[in-house]
Amino acid sequence: MTGSPPSMDFFIDAFQWHRKFLPPLVRQDGLLLLSETDLFMLGSPGVLAVERVLREGVNLASHCKTEGTPALLAEMLHALEALVRQGFARPARADDAEPYVVPDFSSPAARVRVSEHVDAIVLSDAVSHDAAMRWGRAVTAGDAGLTLVFCDDYLDPRLGPIDTQQRTTGWPWLLVKPTGERAMAGPLFTPHAPAATACWHCLAHRLIRNRPARAWWQGRHGGRTVGMPVRVDAKLVEDRLEALLPLALGLVSQSGQQVWTLEPREPHAVVARPQCPQCGNAGLMAHLQRQPITPMPCLSSARPDGGWRTMPASATVERLARHVDPLCGVITRVVPLGVEAEDALTVYRSEIFRTAPVHGDLSASALVQVCLGKGMFTDQSRASAMCEAVERYAAFSSIRATRPLSSQPHRR
Ligand SMILES: [Zn+2]
Repeated sequence: MTGSPPSMDFFIDAFQWHRKFLPPLVRQDGLLLLSETDLFMLGSPGVLAVERVLREGVNLASHCKTEGTPALLAEMLHALEALVRQGFARPARADDAEPYVVPDFSSPAARVRVSEHVDAIVLSDAVSHDAAMRWGRAVTAGDAGLTLVFCDDYLDPRLGPIDTQQRTTGWPWLLVKPTGERAMAGPLFTPHAPAATACWHCLAHRLIRNRPARAWWQGRHGGRTVGMPVRVDAKLVEDRLEALLPLALGLVSQSGQQVWTLEPREPHAVVARPQCPQCGNAGLMAHLQRQPITPMPCLSSARPDGGWRTMPASATVERLARHVDPLCGVITRVVPLGVEAEDALTVYRSEIFRTAPVHGDLSASALVQVCLGKGMFTDQSRASAMCEAVERYAAFSSIRATRPLSSQPHRR
């Protein structure tokens, strides 16, 4: 059995699903495995037959003894070997070199008072009191104060009340996640700032929209936030905290409105949603949809390519650039379809994530909406693809948020 440690006996040894996955969801068409960053759909008869053995953590030998020799035993052995080799399953006796925990969103937060202007709220069991103190002493907070919030999950529902509390007091706060597959820090939420900046709900809205598999999974649980298993080994968390600290200091000193990830090390712009029910106007979109269309004068320019534009396509591309991001953006990505060439028409492809209906298809294509844009020049094609994506994104949102337009009074 290529790639498997020689000590393993797939009939005698007991195996279990890798702990980075939630317990598998078994459907008629296959088995779903969801982790913090991935969704896998496995459908072979051998995998489906061995699922219960892995879920119960028993070996095939004892399974045969109690249940009788299954008809698919050969397929089960083959599936087991493949699942272990590919990292979906692991020996049940394996030492936990990579311990995982599912965060308990019902446990109370630990508060750490660092100084007159700095405190910390710890929602992660992997972050020690000493680590929170060390971070609190390293940051320099102005008179506005600062709260550091350590969590295992940026969608932890306990962050909602914290956001409310911070907006009530006007204290800025910085979110930090040193555990799991994806460590991150930021943004610095600045409820005291005169300019509108995002609140946690603005960020959470974008994050869950960009995690369609998790959103789908949560939909099956009545919308309740499902805690995902996260890696919490002490050395990993210690290294992450050390690597995140300089990024956090930069965010605090510059009131950074970005989430910084470590792998890859890059910023993700966080923007305020004017229609946010918590920090904006919840009725904004419905109000705008009910307004009559009123023609008004604007700058326009006729171009030899046949288009009428109120601004250059390059300006549209620049204006929407901060919304292109697979983590916090509206548009997941925008790329040329094929090779760009000076003398040829270039078509651009954009993508947005979309949440599949709870009882509908969950294939990879059901979680991504592809849009295309074309034009005479590169900027036109890119702008066209981006605007198409924004339009689709808004359509998916408005379908959920408002009653059908056809039921509204007709306006001229
Ligand atoms: Zn908000």
